[in-house]
Amino acid sequence: TVRPQGSQEANIDKLLGGLLARDGFDESRCASRFGSYLYRKASSHKPSPYLISRLRRYEDLHKRCGPDSESYRAALEQLKSGTKIGSTDCNYLVWMSFSGLGNRILALASTFLYALLTDRVLLIDRGKDMEDLFCEPFPEKSWLLPLDFPLLDQFNSFNPNSTHCHGNMLKTNAMNTSSGVIPSHLYLHLVHDYGDHDKLFFCDDEQSLLAKVPWLIMKTDNYFVPSLFLITSFEQELGRLFPEKGTVFHHLGRYLFHPSNHVWALITRYHQTYLAKADESIGIQVRVFDSRPGPFKHVMDQILACTLKEKLLPEVDMQDSVVTVSENPKLKVVLMTSLNAGYSENLRDLYWEHPTITGEVVGVYQPSHEEYQQTERQMHNRKAWAEMYLLSLTDALVTSAWSTFGYVAQGLGGMRPWILYKPENETTPDPACQRAMSMEPCFHAPPFYDCKAKTGIDTGKIVPHVRHCEDMSWGLKVV
Ligand code: GDP
Repeated sequence: TVRPQGSQEANIDKLLGGLLARDGFDESRCASRFGSYLYRKASSHKPSPYLISRLRRYEDLHKRCGPDSESYRAALEQLKSGTKIGSTDCNYLVWMSFSGLGNRILALASTFLYALLTDRVLLIDRGKDMEDLFCEPFPEKSWLLPLDFPLLDQFNSFNPNSTHCHGNMLKTNAMNTSSGVIPSHLYLHLVHDYGDHDKLFFCDDEQSLLAKVPWLIMKTDNYFVPSLFLITSFEQELGRLFPEKGTVFHHLGRYLFHPSNHVWALITRYHQTYLAKADESIGIQVRVFDSRPGPFKHVMDQILACTLKEKLLPEVDMQDSVVTVSENPKLKVVLMTSLNAGYSENLRDLYWEHPTITGEVVGVYQPSHEEYQQTERQMHNRKAWAEMYLLSLTDALVTSAWSTFGYVAQGLGGMRPWILYKPENETTPDPACQRAMSMEPCFHAPPFYDCKAKTGIDTGKIVPHVRHCEDMSWGLKVV
């Protein structure tokens, strides 16, 4: 969808309805920031004026407190001294780079929302490739944690039993704040394997205590936003930020994650070559959680069962009775992503060997087939990011259950996908897929605890806008 450049409409679209700040960026260093609107439909979900004003306020905070500022240096002195002395000008939230790329994107978006809610400055550990994959999201000052950050060399050793781990301190009663002694930093372990004490992070009492700590260092591989909606002290603010509740990742994802120029080149070249000419495009993301390589017949059957039943793809005439050739048939393009090439080869052959009953022609393309998940190779993650983004540019989306890769695509694209259920015992599920309630990602490891009553509770039944996920019965999502 290409709109005329320079028009009023284009200028609004370019800043994604006001989500993006105009000033303080060098356009040539990040072509995707102001170029993405040329490739995707304008979102039908507008960011609220309040969200926009809070983002601008955050940007001012980041400019004032970011790396190399006077306040940053003062806060480092606090950190080195071990305990908090007096008041602090700026408080910080450090995000640790951890897990697969989809998980990282969701975890980072959650971390940023927590920073917004608590007026903290977000700094990210660049890990192996954060710098290679993403542009700087904030004007003027970097979001990258400086390489001389004093605790950086300890990050690898942080674990649930570390002395500064918040949950561990609660467990061992080391969190004695009545004495007035506040540690200058705490480690928050919010990884999927976290324990009951770590989960107290999601209680109001702990939040009022954490608010006093200048440096929080967070490790998580989860989209924990749904549980933030259950913390009473954040409720009102979240309601103002997101009057349309199920759009949190949609807006924050588009605000934060701009593909770097190398990745943007992968995206735009692929789009121009295979997607731009389509009358209609559909993304199919196939993620099979099986240690064997595949392809599997039950998964192929599932893809066909879902896309044909939901009329996302046309039926074929197996008798080949239609032989008339249309001059100008409608072109439907399928963009398939998978670690394995088999599914798209199969689908491509089906639409070559047989005519469709609608007269459309169907092209099937798959950018890569990397065979197995890799974490260390630069090009591997660039391609993974490019593919998530390309999926988000399609007109309709089919995703795989449990996969954060698919969640990122649906959120950026603002689409409610059809989710392919996770197959059990090598059998095609029936029904094969279900339309998602919202475009929000699923929190895979939420706590089930009532902080006030101090008992277990089904956190999917407390408020109508936080429910159990379609693809994972114990997960939580915002709808
Ligand atoms: P999840 O495991 O599906 O939740 O998604 P993650 O992104 O966190 O981890 C999966 C990783 O496997 C990705 O980051 C990629 O490295 C790789 N991967 C999985 N599916 C694909 C795919 O379709 N294309 C590419 N290029 N990589 C994939």
